Amino acid sequence: MDNFKDTLQHFLFEHTPIRGNIVHLNHAYRQALQHQSLPLVLKQALGELMAASALLSATLKMDGAMVLQLQSKGALKLLVVECSSALEMRATAKWAGEISNQSFIELIQHGQFVITLDPEQGEAYQGIVPIEGETIAEMLENYMQRSQQIDTSLWLHCDGENAAGMLLQKLPERPDQHHQNQDYDAWNRVNHLANTVTISELQNLAPEQLLTRLFAEEDVRLFEEKPVRFHCSCSKTKVSAMLQMLGVNEVNSILAERDNIEVNCDFCNKHYVFDAVDAAALFTSEITISLGSSRH
Ligand SMILES: [Zn+2]
Repeated sequence: MDNFKDTLQHFLFEHTPIRGNIVHLNHAYRQALQHQSLPLVLKQALGELMAASALLSATLKMDGAMVLQLQSKGALKLLVVECSSALEMRATAKWAGEISNQSFIELIQHGQFVITLDPEQGEAYQGIVPIEGETIAEMLENYMQRSQQIDTSLWLHCDGENAAGMLLQKLPERPDQHHQNQDYDAWNRVNHLANTVTISELQNLAPEQLLTRLFAEEDVRLFEEKPVRFHCSCSKTKVSAMLQMLGVNEVNSILAERDNIEVNCDFCNKHYVFDAVDAAALFTSEITISLGSSRH
């Protein structure tokens, strides 16, 4: 369905500590994967992971990037999705051998979920948990429960062309918020209602319609939609930094065997070429620094 833009919408249930997000990815999803030739099962998994990354990223009060990685010793080596606080995202996958009829769960034997939060200010945080669950939604729910102790429910779907998702999250209640009219059953009730969502509704209904359909009796406030888009943050500067990390000897040994150093971005397939002159320029800064610090 093409009737949605790429959007995320936040909502909350009045007088309860429950909030949620709904995301739809159409162009952003297709753009992100257009340069990658992926088996359908991985395309769908990446779509669900992209939807999840936007839903989770939007719950954080952090400026920076969230990286969701699924690593395994099975045929699927890695799924990675990065989503910024501005809801710009990119995604890629690595696998070995032929992937044809295997189900997603068969591909991720002995896997683990790695979630990295990389704030613009301050230290990066990384959480690693073994994969538990049959679906990406279940795996992330388990992760959030085990690692963050936050009740989170996720509904994710991707048909290989569009991705959609919904998140419900129960905010920790402060002791001073307890009062007589506490709606103790709200979390269970709202989840119960949300569980009646169908794939078609998740994919095809606009957020306002979806919330009305699921939570007609509840007092739900829906916020303005935010755009989500594909953006790859790779650059010649970042590739240069990577080559500088490799070191002058390694770079020279590559150039001894070929004319250029070629680097392809796994996410957007952008091609970076460094010839001998470019490569030499990478290491001139070291000379400048040593000259600058020499004493007279
Ligand atoms: Zn790129």
